[in-house]
Amino acid sequence: MLPEKVRDYLNANRDRHLSELCEFLRIPSIANVHGEPDGCLQAAEWLVERLERIGLSAAIEPTGGRPIVFAEASPNADAPTVLIYGHYDVQPPDPLDKWHTPPFEPSVRDGAVFARGANDDKGQLYTHIMALEAWQNAAGGPPVNVKMLLEGEEEQSSPNLEPYVAANAGRLSADAAVISDSEFFAPDLPCLVYGLRGIVYAEITFTGPAGDLHSGTHGGAVTNPANALAQVLAAMHDEAGRVTLPGFYEDVVETDDAEQRLWSALPFDEAGYARSLGVDAPSGGEAGRDVLQRRWSRPTLDINGIVSGYIEPGAKTIIPARASAKVSTRLAPDQQPQKVVDGFRRFLTDNTPAGIRWDLTVHSTARPVLLSRRSPALEAASAALEEAFGRRPAMIRMGGSVPVTELIQRILGIDAAMMGYGLPDDNIHAPNERFRLRQFYDGAVASAAVLGNIHKQQSSQ
Ligand SMILES: [Zn+2]
Repeated sequence: MLPEKVRDYLNANRDRHLSELCEFLRIPSIANVHGEPDGCLQAAEWLVERLERIGLSAAIEPTGGRPIVFAEASPNADAPTVLIYGHYDVQPPDPLDKWHTPPFEPSVRDGAVFARGANDDKGQLYTHIMALEAWQNAAGGPPVNVKMLLEGEEEQSSPNLEPYVAANAGRLSADAAVISDSEFFAPDLPCLVYGLRGIVYAEITFTGPAGDLHSGTHGGAVTNPANALAQVLAAMHDEAGRVTLPGFYEDVVETDDAEQRLWSALPFDEAGYARSLGVDAPSGGEAGRDVLQRRWSRPTLDINGIVSGYIEPGAKTIIPARASAKVSTRLAPDQQPQKVVDGFRRFLTDNTPAGIRWDLTVHSTARPVLLSRRSPALEAASAALEEAFGRRPAMIRMGGSVPVTELIQRILGIDAAMMGYGLPDDNIHAPNERFRLRQFYDGAVASAAVLGNIHKQQSSQ
């Protein structure tokens, strides 16, 4: 149980904590910017100042890209050490005209705070700062040693995080790790995430004639790169919805029976899920697999964008000189990104028609990860979520990628507890992103409780 004085402190400081979050949200720390002012350094400086105020030593540490904020407090050499991860960068806010209030002018209404990053991940990250402050000011300090790793490039798949974690493995070493960058399974059902898919994000370019050609004069005499690309992309799935890249399924691990039982016990509302997406029913994906398997434990391949030819209004009869597509695959444990990239290359070599030159650019990769479903940190997180939200969390996987989880496991040897406080309809990465105030305040209680629980585990050993 969280000491009453820590919980009381959080209750008494709600309004100030909310206005501080709004201050943080006003900084436009946008990832992947094109000409917009980059507020990432400003957000990092804000965090350092904020963390030093509650007794942590904090510093901005350079990477090959946007900086990392590293902070620590070691109140007790005998206590366990907990590594807390969060990210201060946010997705670009466009399309701007779909926001009811501007993305970087936080608006509190209908029991939620609306702003870009309110949920993902500034709001969730801030619950840990509130928790540390409450321990510091109400109980004389956190019950454990704390390290914080706050990143500025998560929304770009963390391109500089692996070298940073590898170079600083000693400084980042900890007994447990906590990440709050995910969401509840359903509005009243917290969850712990123990599996994530990986990703290979690639761009395929087909080049044909030296320039666009008249499709009447030359049609039938040259291979059209747009036609060819459409054919090749279509051939990347078979009739059963399986991906046809060579070797694609070789390393995919099937879910076991115990896991299937966990998932079938979840209150998954398939019709409601379809409605929330604006489709009649969940479709696509591999035949013979249920929706949760297709989203969580099976690999996929999706075209994310196609560009070719004449796209202005009206007609223009050309054979375009080139065509390109952005394609991402989501990887299931234990697929290896490099093997999938090799599969792409072999597929393109074998299937690209005569008259076309192909090129493959890999934009980003991340490995899938599967964490233990029974670790002490997970027990501590589970009890913390139950204390804060009144319900024992479900154990789930997620279809997306959070690269840091895999790095923490592979490089630091820690299975992190992924305890997120967002709700499924919070519009992350979309206009009108929000974070419910109840999730924000109770999330801070959970963030505080997990530290106490980890401390108790150690002292009862
Ligand atoms: Zn995030």
